[in-house]
Amino acid sequence: MLKGKTALVTGSTSGIGLGIAQALARQGANIVLNGFGDVDAARSQVLAAGEAAAARVAYHGADMCRVADIEDLMKYSVSQFGRVDILVNNAGIQHVANVEDFPVERWDAVIAVNLTSAFHTCRVALPAMQNANWGRIINVASVHGLVGSAQKSAYVAAKHGIVGLTKVIALENATTGVTCNAICPGWVLTPLVQKQVDAKAAEHGLSDEDAKKLLLREKEPSMQFSTPEELGELVLFFCSPAANNVRGAAWNMDGGWAAQ
Ligand code: NAD
Repeated sequence: MLKGKTALVTGSTSGIGLGIAQALARQGANIVLNGFGDVDAARSQVLAAGEAAAARVAYHGADMCRVADIEDLMKYSVSQFGRVDILVNNAGIQHVANVEDFPVERWDAVIAVNLTSAFHTCRVALPAMQNANWGRIINVASVHGLVGSAQKSAYVAAKHGIVGLTKVIALENATTGVTCNAICPGWVLTPLVQKQVDAKAAEHGLSDEDAKKLLLREKEPSMQFSTPEELGELVLFFCSPAANNVRGAAWNMDGGWAAQ
């Protein structure tokens, strides 16, 4: 379905971004990976997923807090594959603390990675998408783009912000072949969430399994984590012809969290 297209997925060395990159590669898109940590393992997994479709894989280590890095990432993507057709803004970090205790430097970092980076990637990617009259921008927001939770001020502010940014970009491009949508996952068991499971286990003296159940019970009626694979499939839907007129949506996959 995506042969000949290029997808840039930020924060794709782990978790949800890695799942999305694999799904896109399986459909034949060339992939630009980004993120920290075990780059070689991520690259091998995405290459394996895209092998049958002959997808190519490149990597750039831009720090999504830095505007110059982001501009360089976009230039690199174009130099590798000609153009970015699909942009998935996924890189994200979390910090948990009450507002009065929230470290100022953590607030700035969460807003920079989870929100401002998407403004910059879109700003740089949009002109070529508009010229081609085809583009897909998919912002990985969160159920926290729709509802709040205590102790997550920066994250909730950034995620509500990216849902707003999604609507504006969708409207500015509404008569073109460029769409912009957000996806809003509930709990997905990635390293970002495992840290919160570990904190719950330590706070309440629980096993890993019981801490996971507690986390789910507090928020997610289905009592079930979503998976990076399921989110990858949702991204494929947004890239498919059936989603040509889906614009500015904030689509939750949250086990009923936001329905309460
Ligand atoms: P993760 O920690 O597994 O992955 C985060 C990725 O972002 C990694 O590849 C990491 O290297 C990269 N990253 C972090 N800081 C970066 C920076 N400054 N520059 C470049 N890359 C950076 O987390 P995840 O759970 O897969 O989260 C991915 C996205 O999904 C985030 O935007 C997160 O807010 C969102 N999300 C996650 C959940 C969940 O339950 N896990 C729920 C809703 C939304």
